[in-house]
Amino acid sequence: MKEKIEIIQSDITKQNVDAIVNAANTSLLGGGGVDGAIHRAAGSELLEETRRLGGCPTGEARVSKGYRLPARWVIHTVGPVWRGGHSRERELLASCYKNSLKAAVDIGARSIAFPSISTGAYGFPLEEATQIALTETMRFLASDKTIEKVVFVCFGDRATEVYKKALLRLA
Ligand code: ADP
Repeated sequence: MKEKIEIIQSDITKQNVDAIVNAANTSLLGGGGVDGAIHRAAGSELLEETRRLGGCPTGEARVSKGYRLPARWVIHTVGPVWRGGHSRERELLASCYKNSLKAAVDIGARSIAFPSISTGAYGFPLEEATQIALTETMRFLASDKTIEKVVFVCFGDRATEVYKKALLRLA
């Protein structure tokens, strides 16, 4: 399974994969960080579609088209806001990865790219979030035969280093 995982330092809006994941907020109406970058790159049709989706609860995922992005689909998931670790943050972040991968299988995507969900404005500690991202993905890949490639797109040197180290430590 590990061979299906790739870690790169890049911009997720540039990825040539079937689906990219957006770290959205519950309104699905766009925002800052990676969400803003995805909406800018996809064009205004993306907002027209996400407006019709009617929001998304934390931990769940919703699918839209990718419009001007190289990716055909955008899977919007809503990560938890870090409130100190006693508000089901870990469980909710794990659900984001699980539900996004499930959504990818449902639309027939074979390659998917993730940003580091919740570790920007939402304040989730990076090391722990990385561990959850990789563990949930490995668990999913162990029982799924359709996803061929999962790319973790790191924004900046620190995230790249943390992800690469965590992947090395995985059995
Ligand atoms: P959240 O609200 O879920 O914390 P953010 O967008 O603030 O979402 O941050 C999530 C992660 O996405 C952060 O690690 C941030 O550095 C990263 N990020 C921001 N822009 C991009 C981009 N264009 N491509 C990939 N990752 C990005």
